[in-house]
Amino acid sequence: MLKLFPHNSINRYKKTVISINKKYESLKTYSDTQLKEQTKVLQVKLQTHDLKTNDLKTNEILIEAFAIIKEAIFRALNLTLFDVQLLGGIILDQNNIAEMKTGEGKTLVALLPAYLNCLTGQTVHIITVNDYLAERDANIAKKIFSYINIKVGLITQSTNLNERKTAYNKNITYITNSELGFDYLKDNMAIHKSNIIQKNFYYAIIDEVDSILIDEARTPLVISGIKEVKNQPYVEAQNVSNLLINQIDYTIDEKSKSIILTEKGIANCEKVLKISNLYDTKNSWIKYILNALKAKELFLKNRDYIIKDSQILIVDEFTGRVMEGRRWSDGLHQSIEAKENIVIEAENKTLASITYQNLFLLYKKLAGMTGTAKTEESEFLNIYRMKVISVPTHEKCIRKDLSDLVYKDEYNKWQSVANECLDMYKIGRPTLIGTTSIQKSEILSSMLKEINVPHSLLNAKPDNVSKEAKIILQAGQKGSITISTNMAGRGTDIILGGNAEKTTELIIEQLKLKQHNQLINNHNIEQILTKDEIKLLQEINKIETNLVNQEKIKNIYTKILQKYKKLFKKEKEEILQLGGLYVIGTERHESRRIDNQLRGRAGRQGDQGSSRFFLSLQDNLFRIFGGNKIENLITKLNIHDKTPIESILLTKSLNSAQKKVEAYFYDIRKQLYEYDEVIHNQRKAIYHERKKILNSTFTRDCILEYAEYTIEEMLIIYIKNNQNHNTLLQIIKLLNIKSDTKNLSIMNIDEIKYYLNEQLRISYDLKEIYLEQLRPGLMRQLEKYYLLQQIDQAWQEHIEKMTLLKEYIGWRSYGQQDPLIEYKNEAFHLFINMIIYIRQTVVYLMMRSRLIIEI
Ligand code: ADP
Ligand code: MG
Repeated sequence: MLKLFPHNSINRYKKTVISINKKYESLKTYSDTQLKEQTKVLQVKLQTHDLKTNDLKTNEILIEAFAIIKEAIFRALNLTLFDVQLLGGIILDQNNIAEMKTGEGKTLVALLPAYLNCLTGQTVHIITVNDYLAERDANIAKKIFSYINIKVGLITQSTNLNERKTAYNKNITYITNSELGFDYLKDNMAIHKSNIIQKNFYYAIIDEVDSILIDEARTPLVISGIKEVKNQPYVEAQNVSNLLINQIDYTIDEKSKSIILTEKGIANCEKVLKISNLYDTKNSWIKYILNALKAKELFLKNRDYIIKDSQILIVDEFTGRVMEGRRWSDGLHQSIEAKENIVIEAENKTLASITYQNLFLLYKKLAGMTGTAKTEESEFLNIYRMKVISVPTHEKCIRKDLSDLVYKDEYNKWQSVANECLDMYKIGRPTLIGTTSIQKSEILSSMLKEINVPHSLLNAKPDNVSKEAKIILQAGQKGSITISTNMAGRGTDIILGGNAEKTTELIIEQLKLKQHNQLINNHNIEQILTKDEIKLLQEINKIETNLVNQEKIKNIYTKILQKYKKLFKKEKEEILQLGGLYVIGTERHESRRIDNQLRGRAGRQGDQGSSRFFLSLQDNLFRIFGGNKIENLITKLNIHDKTPIESILLTKSLNSAQKKVEAYFYDIRKQLYEYDEVIHNQRKAIYHERKKILNSTFTRDCILEYAEYTIEEMLIIYIKNNQNHNTLLQIIKLLNIKSDTKNLSIMNIDEIKYYLNEQLRISYDLKEIYLEQLRPGLMRQLEKYYLLQQIDQAWQEHIEKMTLLKEYIGWRSYGQQDPLIEYKNEAFHLFINMIIYIRQTVVYLMMRSRLIIEI
């Protein structure tokens, strides 16, 4: 039954796959109890290895583990894993990315390496893009793993702290990327050890890995507090920006969404604001001016944001989603509020932040899966050290990707898309139309309404994801026309004809709520169920849950299921005759990967299917990145309004424009990554120190160590200052010890150091004896309190300084220096200063702790 894998690079796994299947066959005779025991057997095996080699050799038990989970899947779901799924599992175990198309069964693939790696006793994290998928997949996993004694945890937005802690302690934990990131940041802000909930960062398997590590990697996760409002500079800068003239005072770079002031513009600003230097860091007007200009020129109402209830809501340019609760950072949001003349909200102060890049690099082992990663393989390799390995599909993919149709203007493009939908609706062929924004999806929707084409519209808001999944589930039914923004419904595959199980569940749900026939039109429920049966469902809450009734409900389920299985099977045949699912793209996206994601909706598991992109010369990609080449081409080609062109030359230019966009966004992510890496190393050091303190029961050593460092550092200053008497005085004052500078000044440096350290200890001992008498244990509590408080405060101030530094270096970047190197150097100095400051203040506060008690 094994098919040869066509790629050479994966041929070497063939043997392993054969062995897994052989082992799997031998498990068939095991009883359920015997199968369950296998987990223990493997754990023991691992431990004995551990003793011998001091190394966990999971790859030596891979074959057995994969066979066991394959059998567990069979017993739980009655599905037999395909060889390509086993192959995907091996790739994940080797910390790489398995590129497997939609519908190939990645949910189950993840279970293979998850099982193998959790046998080490460490927790494996499976990361999903939203709560709906985390819950869906965790439920499947629970069912399967109950056969082999493995515990599965689930964390969603609504999971409370205690439950979270329990979930992190299971063998395998399902969680979304954002919950994981916020928990990490919160853990590192915890004041008590008991509030820490995450255990370890051992092995993560990221589902839809490109979405998480590439699309979401442009904005960091931030926990913020509120800072005071400063209205006046925003309003004033807004007034100044209205006086400035495009092309004279400033130029606009639409590509990078940035504004550059000209010499004349700078002079004008300085004149109006009556200041001498616009770039003065102490009085940084430049930030307000640039933001005001960006608000004026680059951020447009109803394109980049909408106003709802007197609030600016961001519209994601890329998914078309309204991003509730998110705000543009660094004062841009306030500048837009000033422009729109609505209440300016307080700036946020960052308390903690991390990028997804660095969050996931905390793991010892990292793997990912998705339908589309190959186009970004160098990025995955460079930043995450993961290779992208394409796994062949179980059935050959026969989808036809038709060539692009390019229209002269947008209006004609949408007109043709609408007509195409009408044609498809008439013959009953299911069609999915991807759009790049909510606005555009709504335009198409109203066009379809005008020509009487019934359709579903997916306006993808984050809280709508479970509804999204339901609509996507229906998208393969006969006659379904579905408009969707491009990221909607990721993770749910479109089954031709429809998914009988899910439809049955939906119908029962709707009958219970007395709202049947809402989703499933055309199929009359009265033809399937008797009146009594419908009544039974509708009164389900009132009836007894006895055996008879349970049996009746089970019967109803089976009846509906059978009916739809038959119906959908017949309809699937019809749809295949029509050519399968038809995917229409309405704009090329910012990367080929997203286009592929959309196309990949059609032709799952060897089904028929086709895809086509309808484009216009007014599309963003042409306009912003096309350049002269495309413009020239258009004039030469002499295009008519209504007839589209299919030109190889045009497609080529389009591809190269798209590659330019890809490279451009990659640079942005790389830059963010490089800058964040600097702060990340500092963050790791600080979090490490913090954790050490939090876990320590004897913080005295830490304080004394800080004090010793402080003495040393201040003595260096003493030497630098030509042994200035004042420096000695400062040391004595800081340490709060009783001593005379006179006898100190005649000693040499080593003697002074020795003397100060001795005095410090004596003084500290006395203080401890005194405080312990007052209240036993108080000294240790105070130490911990001051240490954490000072570290947190200094770190928050440090983050703020780093943000300013980054901005400042950005403005200076027209200078000769490489801004990144400059940033690294200055960041290093800031960090060292912060460490010295923390030590000094902690020592200062501790040595005066007596005062606190006496007050
Ligand atoms: P993907 O994440 O790759 O898009 P899913 O994991 O959502 O795919 O699986 C798609 C569908 O395929 C699910 O309904 C699943 O039950 C089914 N499936 C997965 N593996 C198998 C298999 N080996 N045999 C039959 N059906 C399978
Ligand atoms: Mg999936």
